[in-house]
Amino acid sequence: METRKSRLELQIEEKKEKQKKLFVIAGVLIGLIICAAAFGYMATQQNEKPDNTVSQQTGANSTEPELPPEPLIPEVAEENLWMTRLVNSTSLLEDGYVPELVVVNSAGYRFDARAAEDLNAMMQAARDAGLSPMICSAYRSWERQNTLFDKQVVKQQNTGLPYEEAYEKAKTVVTFPGTSEHQTGLAADIVASSHQVLDDSQEQTAEQQWLMEHCWEYGFILRYPKDKSEITGIIYEPWHYRYVGHEVAQYIHENGLCLEEYHQQLAEQKARLATESTEPRQYEQG
Ligand code: ZN
Repeated sequence: METRKSRLELQIEEKKEKQKKLFVIAGVLIGLIICAAAFGYMATQQNEKPDNTVSQQTGANSTEPELPPEPLIPEVAEENLWMTRLVNSTSLLEDGYVPELVVVNSAGYRFDARAAEDLNAMMQAARDAGLSPMICSAYRSWERQNTLFDKQVVKQQNTGLPYEEAYEKAKTVVTFPGTSEHQTGLAADIVASSHQVLDDSQEQTAEQQWLMEHCWEYGFILRYPKDKSEITGIIYEPWHYRYVGHEVAQYIHENGLCLEEYHQQLAEQKARLATESTEPRQYEQG
């Protein structure tokens, strides 16, 4: 009997123990629920803060940002499209295009009047840095480009080539009229006064080192970079600077692009934005 009694007692004690455990678990659960509710309330309060207290970039709390993401690639206004116009072997300048020009140095070289001030500022800043940069080519007229080209054709014919072959060969040596950036009045060839040579060695001069580092601050880019020849179709030219305006120059500089790539990216962005405007809005990363 005694053993049966004690077994019963044990069973009661076990039951009590179980009940205790259940109470503890229930208590913990209730505590957790209260905590979760409080946290949820705080999070809601955060989201309900007025927009101007949350910076646009850190708006991660809100699932639906009110402002669309800013376009990454700067696009110039309609009236400034002249700054970024692409001129190359497949994108020709319209026949007879002549910008308003001003003389930019004592040698009489001319530049697009709208960009001349920035060119002068860049040259002056380089001189202020103790350097001696020199413009050795700037605006080139249609007549000049035609003359250069025709001369080259004759030169090639003199090597014994028939006219058509000489004509094609000349295209590889002299820029075909209408495809030279110098005809836009927005390109300048700048060399070191102490090293007036148009080849790769130009990049070693202190003048080029300075210009490559600072040209974007004045709205210029090195138009034919070393690693972009396949895209530009032009050899590396560490002397040919092209005006594209401050905003685009900075973008191209910071992203290591050439002008063709900028236009490509811009076209892609435009196509993307056009698609997004006809579809339900999605805020994707990147
Ligand atoms: Zn040039």
